[in-house]
Amino acid sequence: MRFDIITIFPGLFAGPFDYGILKRAHTAGLVEIQTHDLRNFTHDRHRTVDDRPFGGGEGMVLKAEPIFDAVTSLGIAPKAERDCEKETVILLSAQGRPFTQAVAQELAGMERAVILCGRYEGVDERVNELLCDREISIGDYVLSGGELAAAVIVDATVRLLPGALGNPDSSRFESFGVEDVPGEGTASDGPPRSTYGAGGLLDYPHYTRPAEFRGLAIPDALLGGNHEVIRQWRRRMALEKTLRNRPELLDRIALSDEDQEILDELRFLHGDIED
Ligand code: SAM
Repeated sequence: MRFDIITIFPGLFAGPFDYGILKRAHTAGLVEIQTHDLRNFTHDRHRTVDDRPFGGGEGMVLKAEPIFDAVTSLGIAPKAERDCEKETVILLSAQGRPFTQAVAQELAGMERAVILCGRYEGVDERVNELLCDREISIGDYVLSGGELAAAVIVDATVRLLPGALGNPDSSRFESFGVEDVPGEGTASDGPPRSTYGAGGLLDYPHYTRPAEFRGLAIPDALLGGNHEVIRQWRRRMALEKTLRNRPELLDRIALSDEDQEILDELRFLHGDIED
């Protein structure tokens, strides 16, 4: 997969892509990430990328022309002819549709994504209308620019590319994992998976050695080696975490009768768990 990131601060990306899974994926040839300095597509002495907003008001707006020239230079198909299942041009914006694991999954199935990073008050809206097939927000807050959002999107997508993770099950069975396989806690021929089909739940808590740390022991369920006990504990913890931190997710998840019983019990035990 190839990412092209258009930004006025290409230097900001020197760090995030040079470590861990992203670096490995790049070295293995799974992903190519190119950053493009928007100022290289200006034609005036001052390399101007922004101008005052029509209608007045605070701040500056990124101009359409340099962005058009930058995208055109990448040889990406015009919006009307674009095969949006293979390539996409994304505008980063606080007003965009939420970026979720499902969107990351969709992007990971593509060949190419161009990401436009806004700055100042934002980007001339004609860029959105004429060039972009998606407007994405990474959360309900305002960043000072799209660069950190671009890094988030690239990171979440690259780790889903086949071969990017040492163990492909790691991305199948984690928070927001789209697969609903509540019974998959134990591989038939081996120990319980480190994680299992979250089916949209948040992940359960993880522990490693030592078994006791500053007076806190790990839960007994994880010690005995009983696969079914471990599965049940993990499912319960995933339900509890989700109920406590993101109860709205439970409305979108196919829950088993066993899950419902656990949730009823948790609500009974901790009446204020969702507050
Ligand atoms: N005036 C805009 C508004 O109120 O929605 C905010 C502009 S923001 C200061 C500058 C740029 O940061 C945006 O054009 C966008 O590219 C990026 N940005 C800010 N918040 C973002 C978010 N939550 N998700 C993605 N990009 C964001």
